[in-house]
Amino acid sequence: MTRKIAIYPGSFDPITYGHIDIIKRASLLFDEVIVAVARNLGKTPLFSEEERVGMIEEAIRELPSVRVDSFNGLLVDYARSIGAQAVIRGLRAVSDFEYEFQMALVNRKLDEHMITVFLMPHEKYSYLNSSIVKELARFNGEVSCFVPPHVEKQLLEKMRKK
Ligand code: ADP
Repeated sequence: MTRKIAIYPGSFDPITYGHIDIIKRASLLFDEVIVAVARNLGKTPLFSEEERVGMIEEAIRELPSVRVDSFNGLLVDYARSIGAQAVIRGLRAVSDFEYEFQMALVNRKLDEHMITVFLMPHEKYSYLNSSIVKELARFNGEVSCFVPPHVEKQLLEKMRKK
């Protein structure tokens, strides 16, 4: 039987407990989950690609079926190149829906075999995103309930240098 492989793409700038919640749920459904850091996003990230990959690596250390990678260009091309059948996306609130719906349909148009799977995080993470975490860290707000300790440490170091 073919191994079921899913990609979880995003900017992960930085990875939060919300992302980790989705990764864990996806790992229960698929043989392999690849967390894929998108390189060519319009937004300028706070963390470099290497830093983002490193923080994800540390966060998934205890999940044997999960690995991290990064990619350029179209998601469907990358998915095909590694033999993934599905794309995982997190749905936090209705506000995520329109954009995610559009992306899923475009990806299906580009590759009719590409399946998008939406997963809901625990409700305590439903208002959480990386931007909020960065904003909090910038003003010395408490972020320990939103990101793992190693991410908090890197966030604080980054803000100190800014
Ligand atoms: P962000 O929206 O925080 O910048 P990304 O671009 O890295 O995050 O998002 C990658 C995927 O993870 C998207 O599908 C996004 O909806 C999802 N996601 C981000 N934060 C959460 C969260 N707190 N709970 C569930 N899914 C999330």
